[in-house]
Order: sequence, then C-alpha cells, then structure tokens
Amino acid sequence: MITTLRTDITVADICKGFVYNEYEGKGLFGLSGRLTIQPEYQRNYIYADGKRDVAVIDSILKGYPLGLLYFTKVDEDKYEVLDGQQRITSFGRYVTGKFAIKDAGGIPRYFSGLAADLQDKIMQTPLTVYICEGTESEIKEWFKTINIAGVPLNEQELSNAIHSGPFVTKAKEEFSNSQNANVQKWSAYIAGNVLRQDYLRTALDWVSKGNIDDYMSRHRFDDSITELKAYFTSVIDWVSSVFIDLEGEMKGLPWGELYERYHQNAYAPDEVSAKLRELYADFYVKDKKGVYAYILGGCTDHRLLNIRVFDEPTKKAVYARQTDRAKEKNRSNCPLCALGNDNNRTRIWIMAEMDADHVTAWSKGGATDMENCQMLCRTHNRAKGNR
Ligand SMILES: [Zn+2]
Repeated sequence: MITTLRTDITVADICKGFVYNEYEGKGLFGLSGRLTIQPEYQRNYIYADGKRDVAVIDSILKGYPLGLLYFTKVDEDKYEVLDGQQRITSFGRYVTGKFAIKDAGGIPRYFSGLAADLQDKIMQTPLTVYICEGTESEIKEWFKTINIAGVPLNEQELSNAIHSGPFVTKAKEEFSNSQNANVQKWSAYIAGNVLRQDYLRTALDWVSKGNIDDYMSRHRFDDSITELKAYFTSVIDWVSSVFIDLEGEMKGLPWGELYERYHQNAYAPDEVSAKLRELYADFYVKDKKGVYAYILGGCTDHRLLNIRVFDEPTKKAVYARQTDRAKEKNRSNCPLCALGNDNNRTRIWIMAEMDADHVTAWSKGGATDMENCQMLCRTHNRAKGNR
C-alpha cells in the first residue's frame, strides 16, 4: 500500500460541493464532488450533538490541530474518507449553515454571521491528509487497525466494513436510520443505539441465529434485504401480540431465540398479561427479565425467575433451631436424613454442609421466611430441587 501526505488541502477545498443529507444524517460529498465522505463502511454521523460538532469548530478557530485525516484513492483524483468523516462533516455542516456556535459573549453565530476574518480563518485552515492507495482488503485491514479518532468502531461497524456492499447499504437504510418511523416501536424491544448499529446487529443476530458474519458474507452482494426485514418484522409482531404490556425489562431480551422456540405455541394475551402482572408484583421474583421466558415456557422453569433466597440470619436461626432439637432426639439435623436407615440417620451436619429449602415451594405459594425455611443436607436439597 502506498501512502502520500498532503498538507495543501484546506477546509474551503473540502467544503466545495459539500452535500449533507439531513434525512440519512450523513455527509455525502465534498472536494468539488471528488471526495465521498461516507462510504459504505463508515459509521453514521454521530457528532451532531451540539458538543462534538461545536468542539470541531472551536478547535479550528483556536488553531488547534484537527488531527490526521485518511483518504483512500479510489480512482484518478477520486477519494473516499477512511478516517475523519465526523470532523469533515462537522465543519462542512457549519460552513453550510446547519448549526451555530456561541461566540465569546454567548451569542449563537452561524457561519454567515461570523466576522469575515474568522470566516477566513476557518476556510483557510490547512488539513493534514494521508492519501492511501491499495487493494480493498489492504485498506479494510488497515481501517480496522488505525486509531480512529474519537469513538472506536464497535463490532457491527467492523462487520459493516468487512462486508461492505449493496446488502450493507440497504440494511443500514432500514436498521441504522434514526429517521425510520419504526425505530420508536422497535426501541421497546431492542437495546442500544440505532446509529451505532445496535438495531442492525440485533436484526442480523436474529435472522442468522447468531452467525452474523457468515450471514453477511453470504448476502454481501444481494441488492435486497427481504429476508432480513421479514424475519425481523415477524419477531417484533409476535412479541408485541403475545405481550400487550410494555415494560423496561423487555428491552434487549433475546427475542429472536424466544421466537424460534415458542412462536408455534398459542397464547392468550389477556392471560399472559395477568400472569405478567402477578409475577411483577411478587416480592420473591428477583429476575423480572426472566418472567418472559418463564411465561412462554408454560410457567414451569422457576429457575428463570431467580426466586429470592433465604438470608444468612434466617438460615443461621433455622440451623440452630433444627440442630438443637436433633441433638436432643439423637437424630440427624437434616430432617430427610433423620428418616433414613443409613449412617447419616444420626449425623449432625455443620452449617456449611447444608442448604436452605422452602418447605412449601414458592410456586405453591410458600413464602421466603423463617416459618417456611428448613435446612437440608446438600444431597437432599439437590434432590428436592424445586424452590
Ligand atoms: Zn439429608
């Protein structure tokens, strides 16, 4: 790979023909059309927060270095931004009047309202640009390893880079587009940030059953995302029809997996909702996230709920009570051992060898309190299993 250092390109040069797409939230072109600012493997523009974009302009006005920019040469006098898209888009948007900065007196100033000398200062600022020429794989490999200024690429942004092509472009339009009206609805079920590709990653995870890179590689040159979209929609429609309540704990659950396991079953949404309310109100249910898989599985696997366990003082008190009585009767302090006929019948276990057990299981209405607690030896407790 060949790299050339250029220091003759100014902010004004880049801003010639600068195009920012408000709808997709990204800078598209600059340098009189010869520079593509957001190639497929770049992340979306995330600096439009009134802080990071403003900081870029402040740096320029103070004469601070903007840092290195990396372009790849894709054709004779044609370039793509490899690193620097956020900074370029920030000054491009400023110069084209998309946001204001505050001056020393706290007055918001759009570019057009700046003093002429300050406008000049911005426009004449020279940039430090490395132009790289190499094969696609060399450039992508390098893209993975250079220190991207600001926010490092996350897993999905790297996958997008590695599998860049029409499929990624279409998929990003649908799943990493904050202007997509469905994002609001999806956000009830999906955790993370739409612009950082978390929704796209979830959609890919579901349709590929966890084999994201394999799926992306197979579909790399597809010019439609029909399957991806249809599968994702099926999962979301299924969840929202089974669970009519919206709870914070639903965000980020493995809905794709749950869909695969349970979507053939019939559920009555009203009954599901009643059960959900009951479990949410149950003090002993510690894991509210587990409630969903629990209900879908027919309310049998209590482990999913992480039922509240007995605390140490309760266990100690119950241990002392049982052990005193057992010693009087010359029986084991494990009530189940005491019923047996082997050597353990009279064995006094130390506390560390015993576990607390619900006499009446939680699922049958038993409370997690001293009255419903007994200490069993490890073996018997494990055999009893059910809390
Ligand atoms: Zn026992």
